[in-house]
Amino acid sequence: MEGILYLVATPIGNLSDITYRAVETLKNVDLIAAEDTRQTLKLLNHYQISKPLVSYYRHNEDVKSERLIEELLNGKNIALVSDAGTPGISDPGEELIKEAIKNNVKIVPIPGACAFVNALIISGLNTKSFCFYGFLPMNKKNRKEKLEEISKENKTVILYEAPHKIKNTLEDLYSVLGDINCVIARELTKIHEECTRGTLRAMIEKFEQPKGEFVIMLDLNSNIKEKEETNLTVDELYEMYLKQGLDKREIIKKIAKDKKVAKNEIYQYFIDRK
Ligand code: SAM
Repeated sequence: MEGILYLVATPIGNLSDITYRAVETLKNVDLIAAEDTRQTLKLLNHYQISKPLVSYYRHNEDVKSERLIEELLNGKNIALVSDAGTPGISDPGEELIKEAIKNNVKIVPIPGACAFVNALIISGLNTKSFCFYGFLPMNKKNRKEKLEEISKENKTVILYEAPHKIKNTLEDLYSVLGDINCVIARELTKIHEECTRGTLRAMIEKFEQPKGEFVIMLDLNSNIKEKEETNLTVDELYEMYLKQGLDKREIIKKIAKDKKVAKNEIYQYFIDRK
C-alpha cells in the first residue's frame, strides 16, 4: 500500500506556533522532505524529533519529486516542510503535490502558520475579498505585467517581500497605483513584530533601511468602483449623482472632473440634448 504525503505547516518565527498534530506527524513519518535541512533540524531538535531528512528545494524539485514519489509508492509516509509556514505557499511543494496526485498518492494537510493569513487578519482591510500574489517577479517585463494586473484588482492585494527588495517594490507599487492606503506587517510572531498602516509614500519613508520579513497589503477595495464610474456615460453619471442628492451645479462639476473635461463642455452637452 502507498504511503501518505503530509504537508506540514511549521512556525513563521515563534517556535511554539506548531500544532500537536504537526509534531506527532513529524514524529511518526518515515522521512521528512525539507526546503533547508539545517533550518528544519533546529525545529526537530527543539521538539526532540529524530528523523531522516532529505532536501527538497526549488532547484531540485523535479528530480527530488520523482524519488519521493518512488518512496511513497513503496509505502513510506513522508512529511513535506518548508523553512517557515505552510509548504507550497511561496515555497517549494507544487511539483511534488502534482506528481502525488498523478500517482494517486493520498495528500494530507497539517494546518498551521501562514504569514499572509496572519498579516491579513490584523490588517483591518477587507478579509472577505482578497488575493494573494506572493513575490513580484524580478524579470522586468513580467514584473510590469504583474503590476498592471494588480492595478486592475478591486480587493485587498497581498504580497510577500524580502527586506533588501522592499523599498524598490514599494516604489514600483507607488508609481503604478499612486499614494493608496496599505498595511505592512513585519516580523510576525517575533520580538520585533509590528503592523504599520498608512499610504505607500509614508511606507517608502518608514522603510528606508528595513530589517526582517514583510507582508505588504494594498487597499484596492474601491479601485474599480472609481474606474467604473469614469466609464459611465455622462447621462449615467448624471443619474448616479442625482440619486446621491447632489444639485445640478454640483453634478456638472463632478462629471467634468470624472471625465477630465471643462465644466462648459458638460453644460453644453446638456443644452444640446434638450
Ligand atoms: N510558506 C510561507 C508562509 O506560509 O507564509 C512563506 C514563505 S516565503 C519564502 C517567505 C516570505 O513570507 C517572507 O519573505 C515574508 O514576505 C513572508 N514571511 C514569512 N515569515 C514572516 C513573518 N514572520 N512576518 C512577516 N512576513 C513573513
